[in-house]
Amino acid sequence: MNRAEALIDLGALEVNVKRILATTRAAGLAVVKADAYGHGLVPVAKRALKAGASWLGTALLEEALTLRNEGVTAPIIAWLTPINDDFEGAITSNIDLAIPSLAHLEVISRAATGLGKPARVHLEVDTGMSRGGALREWNDLCKSASKLVSEKKIEVIGIWSHFARADEPGHTFNDEQLRNFEARVSEAKSFGINPSILHLSNSAATLTNPKSHFDLVRLGISMYGLSPDIEAMGDSKKLDLIPVMSLRSQVHLVKDVPAGSQVGYGGTALTIKDTKLGVIPMGYADGIPRNADSSAGVLVGNRKAPIIGRVSMDQFVVELGNDSIARAGEWAYLIGGEGSDGYTADAWAKACGTINYEIVTRIGARVPRIFKN
Ligand SMILES: *Cc1c(COP(=O)(O)O)cnc(C)c1O
Repeated sequence: MNRAEALIDLGALEVNVKRILATTRAAGLAVVKADAYGHGLVPVAKRALKAGASWLGTALLEEALTLRNEGVTAPIIAWLTPINDDFEGAITSNIDLAIPSLAHLEVISRAATGLGKPARVHLEVDTGMSRGGALREWNDLCKSASKLVSEKKIEVIGIWSHFARADEPGHTFNDEQLRNFEARVSEAKSFGINPSILHLSNSAATLTNPKSHFDLVRLGISMYGLSPDIEAMGDSKKLDLIPVMSLRSQVHLVKDVPAGSQVGYGGTALTIKDTKLGVIPMGYADGIPRNADSSAGVLVGNRKAPIIGRVSMDQFVVELGNDSIARAGEWAYLIGGEGSDGYTADAWAKACGTINYEIVTRIGARVPRIFKN
C-alpha cells in the first residue's frame, strides 16, 4: 500500500473535455504542460485525445518529445522553447513551435534549413499581457516570416496570443486584447500570412467568451475539472466539471494529547482541549504548502479533520477530535474522498493563499499517480 497517492480519474477528464467542447465549434487543444498540471503527462494526453481534443500543448519541448516517444501522433505545440533548444529535434519530430521573437524565428528557420524540412510555427503576438509574444517586433516578424514561407523554410500554421484577465469575465481588458489580436492578425495577412489556425482562448475564455474561440481553444485547468477562478466564475460544481485528482495518504499515527499541547515546529498551535491528533505523512516535499492554515485538512473516519500547526517537510498534524474513529493505516483524503464532502483543491488554495492550479501542479514526483476509469 502506498504511503500516499494521487488518484487520477481519467473518466472524469473525458467527461470534462466532452462537456467543454460541446459548447464550441472550435477544435480543442489539451494543455498538458507541467506533467499535465500534476496529473500525469502521457495518460492524460492520450485520454484527452480520445475524448475529442485534436491538439496537445506543452510549455517545454522535452514534454512534447516525451509524447512523441510514447507514440502520440496528434499535432503538438511547444510554446516555451528557449533560444538554444533542440530545434532540429523538434522539427524532425513534427513538433509545432511558437515564435515569440525575431531571434527565435532566426534560429528555428536556420535549424529547418539545415534539415531541409520546413518548421511548423505559430507566430505569437503580445496583445497586452507583456509576457510572451512579439510586441513592437510584430511587423518585422511578419515580414521575415513571410519571406521564410516563400523560401519553404517555415510553414505558418497558426497565430496566437494569451489573455491576462480571462478569469475576470466582462473585464474590458479582454475586449482590448481581442481587438488587438484581430488587428495583429490583419497585419499578418497584409504580409501574405494566412494561417489556418488562430487561437487565443484559455479555459476561462472558452467558458465565458465565445467571441474569442476562433479555430482552437486551449483547455487547461477546466479539463482537470477545476475552475479558473472560483470567485468570478464559481466552483467546479457550478461549472459542471468533475475534479480529476483526489489525493490521499495513510494515517501514520493517531494519539491522544492533553489540552494546552503545542503542536509542530514553532509551537504555532495549541490544543484547546484534550483531543486526538493524527499524523499525516505528507509535507512540503510532496507539494503540501508549508503555509497551509487550518481551513484545510483531511477527510478521515467520515469527518473533516483540520490541520493543526505548521506543515513540515514530510508530514503534518490534523486534529481528529476526541471521539474520532480514525485509525493508523486508513486513508486520509487531502483532496476529495468517498462521498466527497471532503476538502477540495480550491479549499487548499484558499488555505495557502494561492490558486488551485498551484495546488495540483506542485504535488511532488514522489507521490505516485494512480490512474482509474
Ligand atoms: C497554461 C496555458 C493555457 C491553459 O490555461 P488554463 O487557464 O489552465 O486553461 C493556455 N494557453 C497557454 C499559452 C498556457 O500557457
